[in-house]
Amino acid sequence: MTKIYDTIILGAGPAGLTAAIYTARSRLSTCILERVGPGGTALIIDKLENYPGFPDGISGYELAMKMEQQARKFGTEIIMDEALEISGKPGVFTVKGADVSYTARTILIATGSSYQKLEVPGESELAGKGVSYCATCDGAFFRNQRIAVIGGGNSALQEAVYLSRFASEIYLIHRRDAYRASKLLQERISEKPVIKPVLDTIVTKINGKDKVESVLIKNVKTDKATLLPLEGVFVAVGHTPNTAFCGKFLKLDGKGYIITDEALQTSVPGVFAAGDCRVTGLRQVATAVGDGAYASESIDKLLQKL
Ligand code: NAP
Repeated sequence: MTKIYDTIILGAGPAGLTAAIYTARSRLSTCILERVGPGGTALIIDKLENYPGFPDGISGYELAMKMEQQARKFGTEIIMDEALEISGKPGVFTVKGADVSYTARTILIATGSSYQKLEVPGESELAGKGVSYCATCDGAFFRNQRIAVIGGGNSALQEAVYLSRFASEIYLIHRRDAYRASKLLQERISEKPVIKPVLDTIVTKINGKDKVESVLIKNVKTDKATLLPLEGVFVAVGHTPNTAFCGKFLKLDGKGYIITDEALQTSVPGVFAAGDCRVTGLRQVATAVGDGAYASESIDKLLQKL
């Protein structure tokens, strides 16, 4: 007979793991479906400095492993599978996995987001051959080399600071005249002479045969094009939500983020969303954790009514 869980959580990032700690500890049968491995995008954070409780910072990996351990300790089942579709009605939902389907009374979607691509010629062809989306994963390959980091948000500036340990020269290329990253990160990059800000500039092409050899950049104010020889390109231009699988079932906003109410319930009663995949004003590990805790409370309340 198919097991019916009280709740199935999709995604084992900070939001999903936190929710599982709460629901499993409340003796609700809890299963997490995770397609890659526990941790989500937090895994690649070299040092989390703004997560409370760790004055010297903690690596995303270490924090994620501790969260996973804690969720399992209270009885959470973690199954490696990818949610491909959700269907059902309040009280009985089905999640279609790669080979099997899972049944639960409630669902929590905490599938996070993926790296946004630049969408320029050469990017996909040279991915893994000099084009990277993760400085902590690939930074060490670029020791004493010239690289570019693309983007102006917290991720781009944080990646540039991290990469300054390895690279000999880092062009921090941003399409506008001001970075949107925090003042603290802007101060940090100004203290690193290897990081060279390149503002009002877009990358129009990444060149190379078997590996990255140069990028073609264009100043958006003057239209002047320049060929910049380098060996690596780190793309940090934001994220897109991992919600394609549930778009037919739930209401999403124009960018694909899940719309929730105050209780973090989606447009379908009994289906909740938490963390980076939902419409929210701030996407941090701390806010994902808060979402997970709050969603678990809403799930518990609904199950008591059911
Ligand atoms: P983000 O804040 O959305 O920044 C994306 C950056 O990429 C922006 O500067 C944007 O330019 C640029 N961009 C977007 N599309 C582009 C394109 N097609 N071509 C060129 N540039 C493009 O994303 P993020 O930096 O990944 O951060 C995501 C969330 O995580 C944010 O809420 C951030 O605060 C948080 N985060 C926090 C920390 C921290 O607290 N230490 C670290 C990392 C991330 P415009 O500025 O012109 O829009």
